[in-house]
Amino acid sequence: MLEIQSFAAGKWVPPAKDARPIHSAITGDKIAQAGSPLDTQAMLDHARNTGGPALRALTFHDRARRLKALALHLKAHKKPLYALSYTTGATHADSLIDIDGGITTMLVFASKGRRELPDAHMYLDGELEQLSRHGSFMGQHICTPMLGAAVHINAYNFPVWGMLEKLAPTLLAGVPAIIKPATSTAHLAEAAFRIMLESGIFPEGAMQFIAGGSGGLLGQLGPQDSVAFTGSADTAFMLRSSPHLLRNSVRFTAEQDSLNASILGPDATVGTPEFDLFIKEAAREITTKAGQKCTAIRRIIAPEALVQPVIDALSAKLAEIRIGDPAMRDTTMGALVSEAQRADVQARLTMLTDEATRVYGTNTAPLDHGAFMSPQLLHCPDPDAAKAVHEIEAFGPVSTIMPYRDLPHAASLTNRGGGSLVASVITHDSGVARELARGIAAYHGRIYVNDRESMAESTGHGSPLPHMVHGGPGRAGGGEEMGGIRGVLHYMQRTAVQGSPRMLAAIGQTWLAGAPITKAKAHPFRRHFEDLELGESLLTAAREITLEDIEHFAHFTGDTFYAHMDEDAAKANPFFPGRVAHGYLLLSFAAGLFVEPAPGPVLANTGLNNLVFEKPVLAGDSLRARLTVKRKTKRTDEYGEVRWHVWLTNQDEETIATYELLTMVAFGQSQAP
Ligand code: NAP
Repeated sequence: MLEIQSFAAGKWVPPAKDARPIHSAITGDKIAQAGSPLDTQAMLDHARNTGGPALRALTFHDRARRLKALALHLKAHKKPLYALSYTTGATHADSLIDIDGGITTMLVFASKGRRELPDAHMYLDGELEQLSRHGSFMGQHICTPMLGAAVHINAYNFPVWGMLEKLAPTLLAGVPAIIKPATSTAHLAEAAFRIMLESGIFPEGAMQFIAGGSGGLLGQLGPQDSVAFTGSADTAFMLRSSPHLLRNSVRFTAEQDSLNASILGPDATVGTPEFDLFIKEAAREITTKAGQKCTAIRRIIAPEALVQPVIDALSAKLAEIRIGDPAMRDTTMGALVSEAQRADVQARLTMLTDEATRVYGTNTAPLDHGAFMSPQLLHCPDPDAAKAVHEIEAFGPVSTIMPYRDLPHAASLTNRGGGSLVASVITHDSGVARELARGIAAYHGRIYVNDRESMAESTGHGSPLPHMVHGGPGRAGGGEEMGGIRGVLHYMQRTAVQGSPRMLAAIGQTWLAGAPITKAKAHPFRRHFEDLELGESLLTAAREITLEDIEHFAHFTGDTFYAHMDEDAAKANPFFPGRVAHGYLLLSFAAGLFVEPAPGPVLANTGLNNLVFEKPVLAGDSLRARLTVKRKTKRTDEYGEVRWHVWLTNQDEETIATYELLTMVAFGQSQAP
């Protein structure tokens, strides 16, 4: 018997005498108990006063590095998690999705954090906004970590992935988490949490854990705290409508149940690769995790003429499923999490069969022990008149097939789910994909289009990916998680900051036009990463552009576009007064003006952003460049990225072009600790 402990305010707390039992999904035996008496106010204080400040002292990159180390630590110690996972009814393949999928999600956030966030404490959201005629008053949106605790309430079906997909963006944002998993699989979540905690990789107070009920925690939350909930619509409604949470405007994100659909395109007839793909995806979604997936296909929407072929092919595929002990590698479908869950699914199945006829599956349990259930395929011939099939989620291996007449009908049936996490469209016809995407996108968090071109590498209808948004409108909860850095920003406050360029540059640690510049102490290309200062600037000599330069460049590169070569044709163009220099010629000459040729700290030019040509350059005009250090980001112990603001002007100091130049610049001495 496992005693599942909570981790509260720096201490493990064992379960109380009246703790809730956890049963094996396979044998039905009581295998663990969870439910500790907790001082939830002390937990919140610990998160707010110890975990939060320690996390916020680190930069995004520090936290991203720790996140990577945490994921790798979990990976190295994951083996015991598999044995526990089988007791939840999960097969080896299901456990891979949960455990390794969770670890991969964390690794993706770690990597995105290093690549897409600055090595700083603040995230600049979007571009600068010019709020005044002469540019002395500007605006910039910034995001900073919220100063409270993030409470994570998770569903039972993915105890590891569900915990990690919320924890990774939270820690990356710099916010401490209090994790409350669902009790029925808390033994697996606790084991994974313990491995992470004992690694000591994140500072004290960064993560706490509640096994069992959360006591008075939600009633103690304040305006800097947040709740990210995953579970049923009923629980979400009950929790989010708490007057205390509403009065304090506590952020509440809900990922709840959803009647996801998969649509078979009219082109995907029997014998096409898309028809076979559709059957494969549908069977996988019905049986993976025994259908206990928030993203599982609950409604199969097929052209009228293809309904019977789909029933036949899908039934044949489901007949191949091997139900049994999840620990056996040849088992392809395990058990539901508990006998109570199976009873719940069976009750909902009864409601569905008022409107739909069972065409595959039986009421007889496939094994005489545990929470096993056979896959169930229902057929609803009149989905317009039906209600339950669009509203009742049987959270198990249950799906209903229904016919559509044409694409608008398919879209309207899909949207009858009232808002879903995902819909898939299986078609090889890009016109069908476009029309359905327009018809259903507003009701869905994700649209998964698959066909013969993408099927070999596609990730599956049911797989939320850390790069992409997970969540959906309406019935699905109206929340949004993950989606790359978007998921991190959910744990931060976005603030509009207005002020002079000097103030904005100091706040955002990013130089901007109009902020003070300093003359470089030496040529900036001779200065090492750590020596370069924001606003350090070089003004080059001027260079005249001749007609010979333009012609030489044209013939050398092959760019003999008429605007550079033909005076009359150029004049007839509304943008040019006559023959003009190539934009790329100007960029090349600018590089020639500011480059310092000898080997030195600048290692490479890695790109150029936001290039804008503002004024044409004619033969006889001259060009000079101002190069200013805009932003610095350490990349490795050997070098960092320096972004330069480049400003090209003519002889009258009019702007010709501006852009951001990216370079990698070496440190003068190793930064290795
Ligand atoms: P649930 O019964 O709604 O429980 C969800 C979570 O809420 C559990 O951790 C539960 O803890 C907790 N909870 C219940 N009452 C609470 C209270 N008064 N205060 C604080 N926490 C409370 O859902 P479930 O049975 O675990 O999960 C299945 C459902 O989740 C399905 O409907 C499925 O569609 C949905 N789901 C959605 C997503 C998604 O991303 N959208 C993902 C997975 C699952 P206890 O277990 O201790 O009661």
